[in-house]
Formats: sequence, C-alpha cells, structure tokens
Amino acid sequence: MKILVLNCGSSSIKYQLLDLNGEENLLAKGLLERIGINNSELIHKAAGKEKYKIVQDVPDHTVGINLILKVLTSKEYGVIHTVNEIQAVGHRVAHGGEHFKKSTLVDKKVKQGIEECIELAPLHNPANLKGIMSMEKLIPGIPQVAVFDTSFHQTMPAYSYLYGLPYSLYEKYKVRRYGFHGTSHKYVAQKACNILDLDFEKIKIVTCHLGNGASVAAIKNGKSLDTSMGFTPVDGLIMGTRCGSIDPGAILYLAKKEHLNLEGVNKLINKESGMVGISGISSDMRDLEDAAKKGNERAKLALDMFNFRVVKHIGAYSAAMGGIDLIVFTGGIGENSSFVRKEVCSKLGFIGVDFDYDKNEGLRGKDAIITKPDSKTKVMVITTNEELVIARDTYNIVNGKL
Ligand code: AMP
Repeated sequence: MKILVLNCGSSSIKYQLLDLNGEENLLAKGLLERIGINNSELIHKAAGKEKYKIVQDVPDHTVGINLILKVLTSKEYGVIHTVNEIQAVGHRVAHGGEHFKKSTLVDKKVKQGIEECIELAPLHNPANLKGIMSMEKLIPGIPQVAVFDTSFHQTMPAYSYLYGLPYSLYEKYKVRRYGFHGTSHKYVAQKACNILDLDFEKIKIVTCHLGNGASVAAIKNGKSLDTSMGFTPVDGLIMGTRCGSIDPGAILYLAKKEHLNLEGVNKLINKESGMVGISGISSDMRDLEDAAKKGNERAKLALDMFNFRVVKHIGAYSAAMGGIDLIVFTGGIGENSSFVRKEVCSKLGFIGVDFDYDKNEGLRGKDAIITKPDSKTKVMVITTNEELVIARDTYNIVNGKL
C-alpha cells in the first residue's frame, strides 16, 4: 500500500512516500523549506535516484503540496506515474485537544475537531488542515488519517498536566498541559533504547526535540510524565519565533502598555518573539550561529538563552523522575547542531554525563552515541522519523487493524 505522509510545519513540509506491504519501503522523501519567506527550497530524493533540488518562491502550503505531487509524478525524478497510485495519506496534526487520544481516520467531524483546535495551535493546525483539504481536492475520496502530536503525552498525571488555575476552568474549558511532538519523542526514545539495548519501559529518559518548534519531554517507564510545551505549543523552551515560558503577568503588563488586543498578543508571543525577537536577525539557528561567530552580540545572547533553557529543563526533569539514564537529541537543531549539543551537554556532568566532544563535533543527521563508553547517563542523537510512525498508523487504521 502506497502511503503519502505529510508533515506540514509552520514554514516547512516534510514528506515521504512509503510502500507498506509487510515490508516498509521508502520510495521517496523530501523537504520543502522557507515557505512564505522567499527562495523556498525543495530537496527531493527518490530511492535509487539522484537528489533533486528546486528553488522557487512557494507562498503557501497548497502551492507547496502541488509542487511535491508534481515532483513525485515527474518522469525524471518521480516514483509513481499518477497521483492515483497513492492509496492513503497520513497527516501529522499538531493539536488534538482532548478530542483525540489516538490516530484517527479523517471525516467531516474529525476536520471540525481539528479546526476547533486551531486557536490552540495557530501556527500548525491551519497548515495541517490545508494539507488535508488540498489532498481531498487532488485525489477525491482518498482515505486520510490524522496522527496527533498530543496523544503520546496523554499519560501525564493530573499533578503534571494541570495548571494552578481554578479547577472549574479545567472542567469547563479543558485548559491543561497537552504537550506536542509526541510522535517524535516516543519514536526517538524507543529507537535509542533499541540501539543501546535498554528497556524503554524501565528507564528514565529526557528527549529533546529541538527544531523551529522545540520541546523537551520526561519519559519515565515508557510513559510521558511531563513535557515543556503546554496548552499550546508556545510554552517551554525559547523557539524560532515563539517566546516559550513567560510570566503571564508580563503579558498583562505589555498588553496594557502596547495597547495590544488578543490578536496582537497572539502575534507577539507566537511570531515576533523567541530567537528572532531576541536577535533581531533570524529565527533560523544556522543564521544565528553564523552571526554569533562573526561577533553579533544579540545572536550570542539568543543562543545562550536557548541553551540555558534546555539545560534547565533537563535538570528539572531529572529531579521530577528521580534520576536520569538517557538523553536524546533530535529535530533540525538537535540532529545537526554540534554547537547546541556541546553547550548543553558540557553542563550536565552533575547528572552523570561524560560527554564525548570528538564524537559530537561535526556530527549531523546521523544516529550516534555522543557520551564516553562509561558515561553513567548516555546521550544519543537520533534522527526523528515521525513520518514512519504516521505511515504505520495510517496503514493500520485504513486496514482496520488499529
Ligand atoms: P525543524 O523545525 O526540526 O525542521 O528544524 C529547523 C531548525 O533546525 C532551524 O532553526 C535550522 O536552522 C536548524 N538547523 C538545520 N540544520 C542545522 C545545522 N546544520 N546547524 C544548526 N542548525 C540547523
């Protein structure tokens, strides 16, 4: 069964076309980046063929998906003749609120549910929904499955997921911590355990999914105990354009001073803050690392703030779990930035990390252990593969096995 997996982020679309038939074969994959910026870049790789790169402006996600389908069916770089060969589509969906505790087949009600969650994830759910709608138009009647970023964290206990607000507001509006990147946190933690021959169900893990959106999770005995994102993906770490944890009192103060309405506050905390807000240069880690190397003080400050918060969360989660056995880095930054991993891990000797600076240096996009052999707490880089988990769920749901 040929399954197209779409992972529509705020400014990127990752895709994979997989053939699942007892075996799991990757036919093609690609990444479209810088959507809505300029000089968007699509890198497409079909199995057994050369990498193919297109640079052109892609103003929005619909145009992006069209471009991806064109490449998949192109004579030279494609792997299928027509889009009708695609039998199902799996979508990563950021926020399922309390509606969705597991992956589900998309119908009118599910689309409505995803739409209702837009205010909870204003950067992602609209992109996810656009992906679903575009596919409906392009291949009418195709089965589509939504895999939610929130479901892995549904194991969090109430003392972890509740905010210190009146309990009645949780009952009335379900305002609570949900967490995101669940598919990724679970996948990389399990994969690291497999590589290290550790029992996922019996150890204490902190997974760091560091990308444009970033979150850290505490996984104890195979279950998510806590995670840095909350009711929405704006909480926790400092991100590309999001502010992360902030005193709610500061928001009230700023709203008054700057005469911001709700929309203005939303824009401030989701789009104008984080690394771009601090540096005044870019939300992109590569740009910031380059600028810092050239001596830009604000870029350096943004990087210090980012790394400091990652360290703080790892420390806090070690305490919350009563210890730590394994730390996993993933996501665009976690997989590729030796600088961030070094800055974070060099501060973790106190929880048993004996960091291997040589193994870390220059390591990009590959699974590897980056601690010395006798390190009490192991650290790994694992390339995330949310697409594979989504394809598996899609296959199982469409075939009535889940
Ligand atoms: P993601 O949202 O997971 O796709 O991650 C995007 C982030 O990863 C952006 O901030 C990129 O700058 C960052 N990134 C990608 N490659 C590198 C690299 N080689 N060094 C540092 N950061 C990188």
